[in-house]
Amino acid sequence: MSTIYLDHAATTPLDARVLQAMMPFFGDDYGNASSPHHMGRKSAVATDQWRRVIADVIGCDVSEIIFTGSGTESINAAFFGILQNRPQKRIITALTEHKAVLEPAERAAATGYEVVHVALDETGKIHPETLAPLLDEDTALVSLMHANNETGTMHPVGELAELCRKKDIPFHCDAVQTAGKVPLDVQELGVDLLSISAHKFNGPKGTGALYVRSGTPWSAWMLGGSQERGRRAGTLNVPGIAGMGRALQLAAEEMDDRRQRNRRLKKQMMGRLDDAFGRQVRFNGDTEAGLETILSVTFFDPEGMPLDGEMLLLNLDIEGICCSNGSACTSGTIKPSHVIMAMGNSPDTARSTLRFSFGKDNTTAQVDETVDQLREIISRHTHPAK
Ligand code: PLP
Repeated sequence: MSTIYLDHAATTPLDARVLQAMMPFFGDDYGNASSPHHMGRKSAVATDQWRRVIADVIGCDVSEIIFTGSGTESINAAFFGILQNRPQKRIITALTEHKAVLEPAERAAATGYEVVHVALDETGKIHPETLAPLLDEDTALVSLMHANNETGTMHPVGELAELCRKKDIPFHCDAVQTAGKVPLDVQELGVDLLSISAHKFNGPKGTGALYVRSGTPWSAWMLGGSQERGRRAGTLNVPGIAGMGRALQLAAEEMDDRRQRNRRLKKQMMGRLDDAFGRQVRFNGDTEAGLETILSVTFFDPEGMPLDGEMLLLNLDIEGICCSNGSACTSGTIKPSHVIMAMGNSPDTARSTLRFSFGKDNTTAQVDETVDQLREIISRHTHPAK
């Protein structure tokens, strides 16, 4: 049985060309990028080279990129690096953010911050007129994602960041799902801080970056050695950085092609699901203007009752098809998605929702096969429609 992998929002396969760029640093070129000798210099030159590539892709200066050990670390560094430099006590974010944002906000709340969640429309989008009245002189930080990792819905980040800029409020953007997928220019977006993660765009796991606009009231969160000009302690992950740089370079070069292919796959899947299930499926989020790579689908039985998403996921897995629903807890049980619930759905409806996420190697045949399997699985578990 061959695998059909439709879970690229969780992680992506490492591109062979990326591995090639990383290999020297797993082998003979193992020097510590901070060492003063020629071995160290070789690693430092490589990190400089790939930092330049990343800075060029996102439109910033090399001095504004800080390498981190994940997207999560990048977000934590953004949060606490700002909060320790601002006296204000209000954080503005949204309930549909990733836990990597919600948990730091919750930690801050436990130490006296007020956390305000901006209201969303029915697609999970935030509009400038909803954010504007919340911005006051006590706002320390606004953190809103570029695209949602469960629905693909994209916020108008440029407009939201501009509102904050006018009031001198730092704006952080979690761009983990959009880096390498859509054009990402920090000048155009007008954000002060932005987080990316290599494993979401065919790069290695455990490698992220934080963009910090020069002049932002931010300081190091990870303390120790003086790497990254004192802004992130820890020996640089040279193979990871080479991998992230090469992966982002390839994603930028191949972006138009990849986007077109993903758009076609998403459309095809929506069409096939519509044909197969009609009113028994509902697509969540902004399926028109949202990210091409993500499709969120809620499944109902012929009586309109939500189907058991975990049952669907496990049965698809038996057929070799990987997708996702909600987030796995440490106990191994599946919690209903906080994102789908934040968009006004009951826990049962959230539990009946699956996320299919496409990547550069998916094919139309794989989409057809997935819908065929879903049809089989659902007909086994429900009564045929009258
Ligand atoms: N933010 C979003 C929107 C994500 O989808 C993820 C990963 O799932 C993260 C942050 C965390 O990134 P990482 O896995 O690199 O820690």
